[in-house]
Amino acid sequence: MKINLKDLAKYEQAIAQKYGEVSVANPRSFWDEEKEKKHLKELKEISIRNIKRALASEKVEKDGYLVSKKLINRESERTCPACFEYSFDIKDDVYMNKYDCCSRCYLQFVEDREERWSNLSERVDLLASYHKLGEK
Ligand SMILES: [Zn+2]
Repeated sequence: MKINLKDLAKYEQAIAQKYGEVSVANPRSFWDEEKEKKHLKELKEISIRNIKRALASEKVEKDGYLVSKKLINRESERTCPACFEYSFDIKDDVYMNKYDCCSRCYLQFVEDREERWSNLSERVDLLASYHKLGEK
């Protein structure tokens, strides 16, 4: 079925009449750069809190490594706790399990510096300064 622009406008009008103007407005019109920035900052702050909580939680041994129980239990969660990127890559699972981060973060933060990474307070400081949350 082909919808021409005239029909489309008609449908939009009908929808707006029934559900209000908000229902046909472009979602972008409610969003701007300021809101996006604030949203991202909040996301990062929440994530940092979650990292701290997870790091402070009980550790269990997995494949010879001590990992946060919380991080293991959230198997459905595929977001790297270090960079907050969502990973679809199966190979990230290995890094996620061993180092609580994705393979990219492993290369950036962990490789050759495993000791620093395994020190949890240093890790939090490192990530906080990486995400510039330590600055006020
Ligand atoms: Zn990452």
